[in-house]
Amino acid sequence: MAQKKYLFTPGPTPVPPQVLAAMAEPVVHHRSPDFKPIYERCLTRLREVYRTQRDVLLYTASGTGAFESAVANLVSPGEPHLVVSAGNFGERWAAMTAAYGADVDHLRYAWGETPDADDVRARLRERPAKAVWVVHSETSTGVVADVQALAAAAKEAGALVAVDAVSSLGAVPCETDAWGLDVVVSGSQKALMTPPGLGLCAVSAAASAATGSSPRFYFDWERTQKAQAKLDAAFTPPVSLVAGLDVALGLLLEEGLEAAFDRHVRLGRAARAGAKAMGLELFSPDEDRSAVVTAVRPPEGIDSSEVVKGLRDRFGITIAGGQGELQGKIFRLGHIGWFDVFDITTMLAAVESVLAELGAEIERGVAVTAALEAYEHQRVA
Ligand code: PLP
Repeated sequence: MAQKKYLFTPGPTPVPPQVLAAMAEPVVHHRSPDFKPIYERCLTRLREVYRTQRDVLLYTASGTGAFESAVANLVSPGEPHLVVSAGNFGERWAAMTAAYGADVDHLRYAWGETPDADDVRARLRERPAKAVWVVHSETSTGVVADVQALAAAAKEAGALVAVDAVSSLGAVPCETDAWGLDVVVSGSQKALMTPPGLGLCAVSAAASAATGSSPRFYFDWERTQKAQAKLDAAFTPPVSLVAGLDVALGLLLEEGLEAAFDRHVRLGRAARAGAKAMGLELFSPDEDRSAVVTAVRPPEGIDSSEVVKGLRDRFGITIAGGQGELQGKIFRLGHIGWFDVFDITTMLAAVESVLAELGAEIERGVAVTAALEAYEHQRVA
């Protein structure tokens, strides 16, 4: 029998069968009545998931592409911008804003640290910035930042705030309007349970009014905004992906955002409890907010890449290794989107087997039991 494959990374993530079925429908024309109701419903549902009254712009791009739309629209050469980084994606945004000629003030934390709003406040007092660029869920480390507090610090100083919510939107609370987030970027392939290929970007009125002089065409916000307002996409959208995203958002909203957030909290608790029961050290914080990815250090003397390889070769399970400076040092268990506790127990049981084969002293079975127990405890909201 062909080996069963399990996708347990923090993106791409597993796609529910209803979404796959919608994507298997015959291709329709994007300017025809066959597509417009799907497009309209998808855009409406996106606003609900983003918790915004504003348009969410849809790009045929990965999350990085949608982020580049923000940089291309907001950054003018020579302008001061503050980028907050504590991992791989924050570093990417520092490099990208610099590539567009921004005068970048880089508030740089060690990978795995949690950015602090008071540091942002102090930095902006020293050097005002047009916008502050922050990462909500730093997928490379498992840290989920307090974006509400970071945004408040930016607002106090009169700066715009742009948020990378690529791996957080739909998994942990992200209140676009209530927290005054000017730009919120996400992607289809994470907690939104759709294959890769759609980049999303919510834009506030203040951000729309503050666009700069960098050259842009495909990623020009105004062009996409005007076209979406008429349900007439500026460029050919990936119609099958939009149909899939529409169904996925419907599933998420049917579950209810609060219920989905609660499920993710408990998935995170289960993953952490299991890892700790195995005697492993967590790299990501042991806190409910870190509900996207659980980053774990392998036992002394074992390279985490061997764990990733062992899981793939022995069981057809794909998890993520460490990125950049964390390569070989951590492995990451993703649990956003279409996940339940039995996905967590499957990962943990397999990690246990692979670590035992690699010579670690692991007590068999304890991780699964601990995970199931941790999952059962409902959050006291
Ligand atoms: N930001 C974060 C936090 C991510 O997890 C990812 C995913 O890889 C990205 C940005 C980049 O998204 P993409 O790979 O879709 O370009």
